[in-house]
Amino acid sequence: MLPSRASVVVVGGGPAGFMAAIAAAEAAGGSVPGGVLLLESTPEPLHKVLISGGGRCNVTHACWDPRVLVDHYPRGGKALRGPFSRFATGDTVAWFQAHGLQLVEEPDGRLFPRSNRSSSVVDTLRRAAIAAGVELHTAQAGQVAEALPGGGFRLRLRSGAEVEAEHLVLATGSHPSGQRIAASLGHGLVAPVPSLFTLTLADHPLLDLAGVAMDPVQLELLLPPLPGAASAGATKPQRQRGPVLITHWGLSGPATLRLTAFAARALRERRYRAELRVDWTGGRKPAELEGWFVDARREQARRQLGNWRPWPDLSRRLWLHLLTLGGIDASLRWADLPRRSEQALVTALRDSRYQISGRGPFGEEFVTAGGIPLAEVNLATMESRVQPGLFLVGELLDVDGVTGGFNFQHCWTSGWLAGQALAAQRTCS
Ligand SMILES: Cc1cc2nc3c(=O)[nH]c(=O)nc-3n(C[C@H](O)[C@H](O)[C@H](O)COP(=O)(O)OP(=O)(O)OC[C@H]3O[C@@H](n4cnc5c(N)ncnc54)[C@H](O)[C@@H]3O)c2cc1C
Repeated sequence: MLPSRASVVVVGGGPAGFMAAIAAAEAAGGSVPGGVLLLESTPEPLHKVLISGGGRCNVTHACWDPRVLVDHYPRGGKALRGPFSRFATGDTVAWFQAHGLQLVEEPDGRLFPRSNRSSSVVDTLRRAAIAAGVELHTAQAGQVAEALPGGGFRLRLRSGAEVEAEHLVLATGSHPSGQRIAASLGHGLVAPVPSLFTLTLADHPLLDLAGVAMDPVQLELLLPPLPGAASAGATKPQRQRGPVLITHWGLSGPATLRLTAFAARALRERRYRAELRVDWTGGRKPAELEGWFVDARREQARRQLGNWRPWPDLSRRLWLHLLTLGGIDASLRWADLPRRSEQALVTALRDSRYQISGRGPFGEEFVTAGGIPLAEVNLATMESRVQPGLFLVGELLDVDGVTGGFNFQHCWTSGWLAGQALAAQRTCS
């Protein structure tokens, strides 16, 4: 039975909402007078946690220094230094450990639950919420909120029921309903656009190589100027280096996702059309590449090109593809490789150009860029600067990170800060 009043009402049962509710209840000693109510519109809270990280949930990242951590947020960036200096990745590891869940670091720095199952994270959060006395109500969607003249809020639910709250926390992720509630309480909105997506290549010249992974590869996005832009050369290229996966529609992998995250808005403005420069050598110096060719000519002179790659980590399928593209017979011996062909190969390895024709298939995007502007929120407490008593956390804000656990980290941080501030306000009032 849904109570008609509560001290704190959290709208949205995702990671940010759970963290805010648990932290508020725990910091107040487990007994917030009037209680903490957590409302989730669907029958199952924490759905994204469950499907995250391929069912394993990449909870956070082994990036311990807040000054470095902020570099992983295309939106948010330096503004997050303050919040992360109070609750960062190390605090997340400790928090989960204290609540019975051990996180394990992988070689690339991502942290997953020891069980390798996202359900462990869901179970931990649900158990912690129950233990802290948070009252969870599912299938309860917040629809409209109004600020009451004497302070506090009245929240109307889609079912028609109403709840009054002294403090309201919006943790609705990228769902438009939360943005609408925030707007009705005076907040602006940075237009949401997809972030972290894969790229579709026009006429997919690499289709035969689907499944090939290379690491590192350097990607550079060459953005065409927007119609009416002051200077044709004014657009800064975006560059990323790291693993790239060739897919059936184009390119994926961490470097591609990071590239699209940082260029999310610029690509949207250009309807996802741009040129991509790919350096399959990962940005190695021309002299180093030439050295490999010299070595191969000298030491592998009698070998066929198709049987000896300039460096061992170069995918054989990609190497054969580049030979074919350059019209070079793979059965030619290294000693007989004409200089002109060598030059063409070096260019293909360091500077292949592809036309981007769109985003990857629907459903690939992991997060939304845009949301409630950070300037409208006190980042020490996550309380609204526009509407006192209102708190905003998680993906609802204009913050998004690259892949690797950074998006959840922002949820843990913003939720925890809101929880501390709520508990402090409750103790003082
Ligand atoms: C497939 C996929 C995999 C991902 N993997 C990772 C990963 O491994 N690591 C990582 O860091 N990030 C990952 N992310 C990103 C991460 O899931 C999000 O950044 C994160 O879930 C945002 O948390 P949130 O609590 O702000 O919003 P959400 O997780 O979206 O939660 C919001 C909740 O509020 C509810 N809600 C919405 N509107 C209302 C309303 N009006 N009333 C009541 N309830 C409402 C929703 O049903 C939802 O349960 C992944 C995302 C996807 C889609």
